[in-house]
Amino acid sequence: MAELELSHISKWYTDGRKPARLKAIDDISFTVKDKEFMVIVGPSGCGKSTLLRMIAGLEEIGEGTLAMDGKRINGLDPRDRDIAMVFQNYALYPHMTVYDNMAFGLRLKHIRRKEIHERVMETAKMLEMEEVLERKPKTLSGGQRQRVAIGRAIIRRPEVFLFDEPLSNLDAKLRSQMRIELQKLHRTINATMVYVTHDQTEAMTLGTRIAVLNKGRLMQLDTPLHLYNYPDNQFVASFIGSPTMNFLRGSIQKINGYSFVHESSDCRIFLGPMLPPSLVKYLDKPIRLGIRPEHICICEEDTESPDCNLKVVAYENMGNEQFVYLALAQHVLIVRRQPRETITFGQPKGIRFLTEKIIYMDESDGQVIKING
Ligand code: ADP
Repeated sequence: MAELELSHISKWYTDGRKPARLKAIDDISFTVKDKEFMVIVGPSGCGKSTLLRMIAGLEEIGEGTLAMDGKRINGLDPRDRDIAMVFQNYALYPHMTVYDNMAFGLRLKHIRRKEIHERVMETAKMLEMEEVLERKPKTLSGGQRQRVAIGRAIIRRPEVFLFDEPLSNLDAKLRSQMRIELQKLHRTINATMVYVTHDQTEAMTLGTRIAVLNKGRLMQLDTPLHLYNYPDNQFVASFIGSPTMNFLRGSIQKINGYSFVHESSDCRIFLGPMLPPSLVKYLDKPIRLGIRPEHICICEEDTESPDCNLKVVAYENMGNEQFVYLALAQHVLIVRRQPRETITFGQPKGIRFLTEKIIYMDESDGQVIKING
């Protein structure tokens, strides 16, 4: 059993001259439940590694409490935490064989030779590394090296695993293969895992839950699908999902029932005869609209088209799907749909925005306006 609880954690870095210059982590609180696969995701420099290193004990906690199973561990030495960390650059001993790299930590703990051997063989089997046990790291591929690094963590049987961008040095094909292996590994060893990445695809595919960070602050923490469907703010809405969500600035006006009017074109999107109560106070005020690429349809009939001068300017066929690029004044909107061999450029016959899927954000703070309550 291993539950991690972060309460109001903050961290400042100094540059050697002035104290408290940069707030790298700003009042972050969340709980990683026992056996959960928690992913921490965010752009480079948002504080992911700092947070992970504080959990590992490699970085001092500035303010706040870190607890494991209810016990405060802020000052506990990394060696005394039941935590293993896997780094991006593998951190293997180059002069040792794969076998010795995996056995090293256990030898330091004076575990009996026979048990060490059994554990190495068991771990090697789990990671399909039996064939390379006598090889040195430099003779291995990137994927194999990362597997040794993971093996070295597993063999200690810790309660918590921390991963710091472990797949960043691998090519795209290997990365997707390793994602599946990590999922399987999590099911097999059934441990608590905290995984840091800047890659939203990795976050979406691996995480039981995802903590989205920006500039040292927690933007939202939820399951992958909930983040995708119900982002709390513009940052999460634009960070999660690929291609990214389309955003338009404008205002809601009482035209034809209610319509969204784009700020720099004559484009009007009909929203309906009624306005949800939470949007009423935004009437005629600047507002931001967000819509996912799969929620705009290019159709054959023009009955439901918005009053818009939208033009198809480009498309990409991905095989299983097609991205169509629509120009609207200075903006380009992306539409995702079934692929077709041919496409007509210029103004399409009809375009439909799935209005029930539109989200609205407050222009002042980027917070999503809750439609239902
Ligand atoms: P991420 O892992 O999300 O890329 P980091 O946790 O590495 O972000 O860094 C967060 C912020 O803290 C960045 O602005 C980075 O420059 C700064 N930072 C990280 N480590 C140090 C350090 N040892 N000294 C000073 N600033 C640091």
